[in-house]
Amino acid sequence: MYADGVTGSGRAMPVGLSAALDRLCPGRVRRSVSLAGISRWKVGGPADLLVEPQSAEEISGVLRLCRSAGVPLLVVGDTSNLLFADEGFRGVMMQIGRRMAAVSITGTTVTAQAGVWMPYLAATVGRAGLSGIEHTAGIPGTLGGLVMMNGGSQRRGIGEHVSRVWTIDERGEAAILGQADCRFAYRRSAMQDRFVVITAAELVLERGDARSIRRTIIDIMASRRRKFPLKLPNCGSVFLSDPAMYATVGPPGHAIEQAGLKGLRAGQAQISPVHANFIVNLGGATARDILTLIGIARSTVFDRTGFWLNCEVRHVGPDGTLRPAHEVAATDRAEQTS
Ligand SMILES: Cc1cc2nc3c(=O)[nH]c(=O)nc-3n(C[C@H](O)[C@H](O)[C@H](O)COP(=O)(O)OP(=O)(O)OC[C@H]3O[C@@H](n4cnc5c(N)ncnc54)[C@H](O)[C@@H]3O)c2cc1C
Repeated sequence: MYADGVTGSGRAMPVGLSAALDRLCPGRVRRSVSLAGISRWKVGGPADLLVEPQSAEEISGVLRLCRSAGVPLLVVGDTSNLLFADEGFRGVMMQIGRRMAAVSITGTTVTAQAGVWMPYLAATVGRAGLSGIEHTAGIPGTLGGLVMMNGGSQRRGIGEHVSRVWTIDERGEAAILGQADCRFAYRRSAMQDRFVVITAAELVLERGDARSIRRTIIDIMASRRRKFPLKLPNCGSVFLSDPAMYATVGPPGHAIEQAGLKGLRAGQAQISPVHANFIVNLGGATARDILTLIGIARSTVFDRTGFWLNCEVRHVGPDGTLRPAHEVAATDRAEQTS
């Protein structure tokens, strides 16, 4: 179907793919997009193509086109949990964001498209007197990303309130998953185990008082502003909290701080002096800089405590392979020392 062509990455891409995507999503396809320019961590080389669908039908169409062209496809929300490789991404990045962000509320049931911004969703349902997701008000990502990661704060996960999830698989086929199908666990969901695009989710919330929900949200936001280094590009908590380690050593940030690593720099990346479980980009950091700090934090904490820290942040390889970032950091260290 496609002949040879070259994108800004210099690699052959099927000619016609970009034009076919343009026909499907007019005005919403960009070529050779700098990931350092658009990602939350401000890190990463170019992505060949970026497309922003605005309906489930368009998503199915994009999936079918990429599948028949044999081109890697990566789904992202706001990239707030992703570390892109310095080499960039050779494929099609599909961003589910503000163009798919409709919300409807019926009684205590909220149905929202995957691209809705979590702080907006938490505030909107709060104003409608619905309680349960206040803990997500300070999480700078989309509903789709949050459901995929079962993210949350204050030891909670969005999965507690998810009743249904609308998905599309790599063949472009739609399915609706119930809560049990999603197998939510701490920062885990069944959707991480196979390729699916989340297009929408249904949440069942509790009735509450809009004013007290608003106060709770304001308190949560103020506490996050005090605790987290929000002024420099970052990806939130880099390492997951392990219950066994938490009970004896404390949370990852505490363990890293105790190891004397707060403020440590590699190139333009730094273990935040404000919160040691954050790695901030001081300006022009590379993925390699960040992986170096991840590797040092892991091995130093292991030497002191006997616990390996594992990453919440996911690394995106040039072919779109998603892996917890510590796995890539460990490989890099092994390569450097061999
Ligand atoms: C300052 C800061 C604070 C943070 N605080 C928290 C916190 O308190 N708690 C917490 O849990 N996280 C936190 N995070 C991490 C991050 O915001 C969450 O993991 C968030 O839910 C990711 O959403 P996203 O839209 O940015 O997803 P992305 O980072 O774009 O993607 C994350 C994963 O989900 C997949 N994905 C995204 N959208 C879809 C979709 N529609 N369909 C299928 N797959 C999809 C991606 O492929 C990727 O694997 C924080 C991040 C930052 C920068």
